[in-house]
Amino acid sequence: MSVHVSHAIILRTWEFKEADLIVSFFTRDRGRLKGVARGARKSRKRFMNCLDLFSLANLEYELKRGRDLCFLHSGKLVQGFEGIRSDFSSLSLASYMVELTEILFPLGVASRRAFQLLKGSFDELEGDESIEKMRLIFEAKAMALGGYGISLDKCCRCGRAYAGEGRAVFDRSRGAISCLRCKQESALAPVLSPASVKALRMIQAMPWAGAREVGLDPEALMELKGVLKLHIDYRIGRRLKTTAFLE
Ligand SMILES: [Zn+2]
Repeated sequence: MSVHVSHAIILRTWEFKEADLIVSFFTRDRGRLKGVARGARKSRKRFMNCLDLFSLANLEYELKRGRDLCFLHSGKLVQGFEGIRSDFSSLSLASYMVELTEILFPLGVASRRAFQLLKGSFDELEGDESIEKMRLIFEAKAMALGGYGISLDKCCRCGRAYAGEGRAVFDRSRGAISCLRCKQESALAPVLSPASVKALRMIQAMPWAGAREVGLDPEALMELKGVLKLHIDYRIGRRLKTTAFLE
């Protein structure tokens, strides 16, 4: 048995048996975990308000060897993010972020950057940052951290290095850029301006705090939005349910 204490974001909860809750949460130290909070629906003392959706809590949990489900001992609320739950568009985007997180990050695989991304995005969702920009940065970073970053260094077909000048074409089957000589622009292969490629490269590579500062003009925002939609649809689209609420 091993007991741990960690900051964690509550991703999802299910009622279980008479008084228990199953909780899916993302910890700062051990990635995404799932646990059972015994009696959480009856006695609120051990988990005072800290198992609400999207909350950041300091959780004490016990891992069991060879089992997916851990035991939640207690928790303390750190940040409630009530603003997200009371606004429909923030709620929809947060639900989408949670779903993408659950698909991209397997249970028990630590990713401090993914934790920072989720927490940072929820912070922004409570403020007045543009929802569109938040979504884009989250998508690009989550995909990159989950192993599906878009490859931007060279043409994926002829191998010519991309020097940061001229337009490139997004090649969704390769998850990469291609030069205009190798691939024609089309609805499924949209072009990216040098500014868009540069911004995407920085967003993918930088930790959350730096990525959120990357400047995106309306043109880059529009181009990257389209490219990320194609990229996510192609890689994991079938598995996403929450996108319907975002459009
Ligand atoms: Zn080429």
